Formats: sequence, C-alpha cells, structure tokens
Amino acid sequence: MADDLQDTQQQQLELAMHGYNTGVQGLADAVTQYTVERMRGDRALGGPRSEAALTAAAGQTITETGLGAEAAFRLFKEILQPATIASDHPRHLSYVPNAPTESAVLFDLALGASAIFGGGWDEGAGAIWAENQALRWLADLAEMPAATRGIFLSGGTIANLSALTTARDAAARSRGARPPRWRILTGEEAHSSIDLAARVMDIDIVRAPSRGDRRLHGESVASVLRDDPEASIFAVVASAGTTNAGIVDDLSSVAAAAQAHQRWLHVDAAYGGAALCAPSARAQFAGIGESDSLVIDPHKWLFAPYDVAALLYRNPTLAGIAHAQHASYLEHQLDEEDWNPSDYAIHLTRRARGLPFWFSLATHGTKAYTAAVEHTLSVARHVEQLVQTRPWVQLVRPVGLSVALIRRPGWDAAAYARWSQKALEAQLAFVIPTEWQGEPVLRFCIVNPRTTVADLATILDALRSDP
Ligand SMILES: *Cc1c(COP(=O)(O)O)cnc(C)c1O
Repeated sequence: MADDLQDTQQQQLELAMHGYNTGVQGLADAVTQYTVERMRGDRALGGPRSEAALTAAAGQTITETGLGAEAAFRLFKEILQPATIASDHPRHLSYVPNAPTESAVLFDLALGASAIFGGGWDEGAGAIWAENQALRWLADLAEMPAATRGIFLSGGTIANLSALTTARDAAARSRGARPPRWRILTGEEAHSSIDLAARVMDIDIVRAPSRGDRRLHGESVASVLRDDPEASIFAVVASAGTTNAGIVDDLSSVAAAAQAHQRWLHVDAAYGGAALCAPSARAQFAGIGESDSLVIDPHKWLFAPYDVAALLYRNPTLAGIAHAQHASYLEHQLDEEDWNPSDYAIHLTRRARGLPFWFSLATHGTKAYTAAVEHTLSVARHVEQLVQTRPWVQLVRPVGLSVALIRRPGWDAAAYARWSQKALEAQLAFVIPTEWQGEPVLRFCIVNPRTTVADLATILDALRSDP
C-alpha cells in the first residue's frame, strides 16, 4: 500500500515535466515552425536592448508554477530573440560571423534530442566515430600525418589553451627541470585568446618582430630561439588567418625554425583554417602540416552552428598525458584502442558538438564546402572593385582571406562608431570599427555565402555621408 502510494505521487511529480503529452507535441510543432520560418524568411538583424527594457518587456519569467510552454516560447520569439543580433544575417560582417547550413541547424535539434555523452567511447562510440571522420577531413586538408587525432571543443579559446597546456607539459617532461618562467613565442597579430591562455597558465609572451608585413617569419623566430639557451620558450604560436586582417604567417619558415630548435609549433587557424579547402587560398598555408597542434573553428567559416572548434594533435598521446583525469569513478571499462575525447583537453562532460558539422559535411560532401568557401572569398575580393568606383572609401590593405579593412577619409574613431551604431539601428548592417596600425577603420569579415556583392555595395554607399 505505502509503496503504491509513493509510486503514484512520484509519477505525478515526474509527469509534470517529464513524459510525452499533447503539450509536448504542441511545443514541438511551434519549435519546428519557428525553425523553418527563420530559414525560409528574411532574417531580421536585431539588436541589443538594455537590461531594464528587457525586464519591462518580459517581466518575471521564473515563477513558482511556470509560464507554460506557449507563453515562454512566445517570450523568446517576440522579445528575447529580437534583442540579439543574428550572426547569420548576410550583412553581419563584424567579428567572425556564423553561417550554419540548414542541414547542420536541423540536425542540431536531433542531436539535442539524443542525450549523447560525448566524452568517452563507451557511451558515445557512434557519435565520436562520426566526429573523428570530420576531424580526419580537416587533418587531411592540413596534410598532417596519419597518426594525427583530434577533438571538438567549445571554441578556439579553450582549444588554444588546451594545446599550449599540452605543449608545456611535454616540454616539462622531456627536460625534467623547469625554467624560472615559461614563455611562448608569437607574432604581432596573434589573437587575444593567446594572451588569455598565457595569463591563465602564468607564462610570458615574447613577440617576434615582423618585417613590416605583420607576419611571423622563420628568421625572426630563429633569432629569438637562438637567444633562449634555457629553452624557456616551449612553443611557437603562428596564426593562419589573423582575425583582424586575415593575414597568414609564413608557416613554412616558422615551422623550419621551430623544428631546428626542437620547439612545439602551435598553429591558430580558428578563423582562416577553413580556407584550406579553397584552391585559390591554399598556397598561403604551405607548411601548416608541420604543426604539432592546430585549431580550426567550424563555427566560423565551415558553416556549423555554435559552438565548435576542432583541435588536432600530431602526437595525441602527449595531449592525453597532459589532460586525462584520473579517479575511481572515471575509469573507462575499455581497451586502449578506444578514443575518449574527454582525455585530450580541459573538459570532461561534453556534447558531441562536432556532429552538426559532420552531418552537414556528410550530407553535402566536401566539394560543396570548397564551393561555398570559394564563393565567400570571391565576394570579399570584390570589395577591391567596389571601392574603385566609390571615391569616398579606400581599401586599407589588400583583402586578407575574406577580411577587408575600409578607410573613410575624414572620419575619426567617433565618426566610425556613430556610423556603426546608426547602421545597426536602421537594420542596415552590423559592421563595427577596428584598428589597423593605430588607425580606426571599418572591417568586413565575410564568411556567409548568403552575403552578396550587392550587400557590400549597399554598405559602402551608406558610408558616403557623415553620420
Ligand atoms: C575567433 C578566434 C579565436 C577564438 O575562438 P573562439 O571560438 O571565439 O573561442 C582564436 N584565434 C583566432 C585566430 C580567432 O579568429
């Protein structure tokens, strides 16, 4: 009797949130409809609102008895989502935008519904197997050796940190003693996440001077390494596509210098690595296959939804030694052949976040990726012609991969900022200023195949009059 009663009470509790019922079907229809409409229709650009405005519009959403799915989803559609900027809008050219394929987005819904723990082979075998095929495609593009293996992480930031953690661990083990301060060597234009990794790891950064072209070259790497008899510099970090200007370091000579001095070579290709699949850009990456670790973000230019970065290791065993967590409750019931992504970076629980990328790649094939990346490259290169017929704007430097830096003579930083703000308010574009060698300029980063030359012309035309 008492057991029956307890079961019934428990069942009622569970059925309040868990369990399939008509409400679930209604929400499934609403979510599907929203998803499909968003894909079919014009994407609104959107824009932020203040915390006070959002509180006034949405009210108290966390209540004792709940709002119900219909009301909560309406809040999302009508108030919350419009208060974000759509990263996949064709005139979103700031930071590095995001342009997931429809198939990747839809598959992401299925992935979320599948409750896969992607940390270890014992629970996630099928998903991890597929992720590994997608990682293999990236390793092959980079011409890394067959033993190369990788994992998908949440972003380039944590991938850079994990790679450098592995590099330092390997250096410490091979030399036995530690220098008073560990250091890494990088170029002038390395991404801010490298600085963050250095702060987290409490190490110092040495910046090798460029020859004025803002690229890292082997010569300057070698001259810094020759001056480091203690080998306190454990890694050389090269950029293959800087975020600010799309510049690819001279990877061949940097790799040769790193090898000659037996240092780890980490290549940060979070943004630019996608262009390895584009014949028109590929030559710029010569030497990338020599890297000991390599980062490419599929959520940037490989059309995957947030958030996913690929981290590849030439010698994955070193990453496993540096990262595996050991505890009685974690021991895998497995033979050593199995690949446990959790053991190779700073994480444990993980979503099989590489699967939407894999699904889209498996669906469309690699040629479609080549075509899409080439398309964005050619749209970006068109900026050159567009500015020639618009005397009120100038190209600051040659288009680097798919990044164009635009000067509007006569404008100062405040004018650029005003224009940018107004362009967003008018829902014309999301384009923000950056700096190039101390000068404020506008930056277009084109990774969305839906962005057209006409979109760029519209934005350049809007730069004609003062804001
Ligand atoms: C975006 C970017 C990063 C950081 O990647 P997240 O995915 O944003 O964490 C690192 N390096 C480069 C070159 C980038 O473009």
